[in-house]
Amino acid sequence: MRKDTLLTALILLGLVAGALVGQFVLYDPDATREALAQSTAGLQTAGDLIFIRPLRMLIIPLVFVSVVSGVCALGEPSKLGLVGGATLLYFAGTTLVAVTLGLAIATAVQPGAGIDISLLENTARQGFAEENVAAKVQSGPGGLGDAFLALVEGMVPSNILKAAVDGNILAIVLFAIFLGVALTLAGKAAQPAVAVIEAFLAGFMKIVGWIMWLAPIGVFLIIAARVGQTGLSNLVGPLGMYILCVVGGLLIQGAVVLPLVLWVFGRTNPYRFLLQMRKVILTAFSTASSSATLPVTIEECRRVGGCSKRAATFVPALGATVNMNGTALYEAVAVLFLFQAFGIELTMAQQMVILVTATLAAVGAPGIPGAGIVTMAIVINAVNSSLTAIAPDSPQLPLWTIGLILGVDRFLDMCRTTLNVFGDCVGARLITRIAPDEPGDTTPMLA
Ligand code: ASP
Repeated sequence: MRKDTLLTALILLGLVAGALVGQFVLYDPDATREALAQSTAGLQTAGDLIFIRPLRMLIIPLVFVSVVSGVCALGEPSKLGLVGGATLLYFAGTTLVAVTLGLAIATAVQPGAGIDISLLENTARQGFAEENVAAKVQSGPGGLGDAFLALVEGMVPSNILKAAVDGNILAIVLFAIFLGVALTLAGKAAQPAVAVIEAFLAGFMKIVGWIMWLAPIGVFLIIAARVGQTGLSNLVGPLGMYILCVVGGLLIQGAVVLPLVLWVFGRTNPYRFLLQMRKVILTAFSTASSSATLPVTIEECRRVGGCSKRAATFVPALGATVNMNGTALYEAVAVLFLFQAFGIELTMAQQMVILVTATLAAVGAPGIPGAGIVTMAIVINAVNSSLTAIAPDSPQLPLWTIGLILGVDRFLDMCRTTLNVFGDCVGARLITRIAPDEPGDTTPMLA
């Protein structure tokens, strides 16, 4: 068996075994939420130490060297405008399609229509309080304006080392782009620096390869802890229809819309590409974090995905925080679901508010677990404001209703992160067409 196939099989085995152990050994339907959290905490920490932390440890240095090297590989800085513009156009276009799809599905299926909110209110309020969602929402951006101010401020830090320490990926990407352009323009004098960066890139990629061998056991521990905490039974029940809408939408976007885009614009066999990205997909699903998956995304796009060095380094690094098809689609379905469950009818105009705010909230969400549920408050607040703008005494959706969907959010987070990351991979493959490798390109990642 090829090493690659063996590793994928082992990761899959870890995933299935983790789900079985979580459900049949760890989960106890009679135990309280705290008791379950306590009994699975050890496994969670072990999984974090073995797999997620090593990946996260690599993010900042890897993003830095890979973006600098990608920009240098572009050769002429003028090409950066084309590549950057096309990348942003792809991100915006597919995100808008994802939200529209989410809205269409939730409007057609009406997953919230049959919910009796009075029966679930206590659990929802309790979940909302226990998971500290209110505090997270309060400490996060209050509205879209705040969210964007924070995003832009984050992009231009006064201290790049502090930005690195804070794990601010976007700032590092921008800094690396500037440095890449400067090194290119400096020409021969800067060649040694570019060579050093290439050498570091090759080294970091080796480390990613090693960490991937920890994935089977890491995935086993993480999934066992996650399933052990919530059990699989809550995936059916009153929220079953809502889960189906989110997962169905994610599947349509990931298995139909993005493949179609890749086929039409990238002239690539999309399903073969999907298969080539299997390790990325498994890592995104298990970690529920686009950022933690980023090292694997960069390596696999380049190593097996046929992406050029320029595209594989640049697009996923930017996409990990900016491009979130899955989160955008999920926010649209979740917000419509909550309004339906609360008995508030939304007009076309309010759905447009969701379209715009869910797109922007997904852009503003960091690539970490549970980020989408916090930025969803922005969407709800925006719809509430538009309701009162039309009729001052119209009913509002209280934020505690978010507690209704918290129980199933871990699972949906895993699913939406998978689409978020696959969207970045598709972007890298598409951009490869306008920024292909050239004969002189060094290819440290293939070493
Ligand atoms: N966990 C997602 C990601 O990292 C963000 C979200 O919560 O939707 O891509």
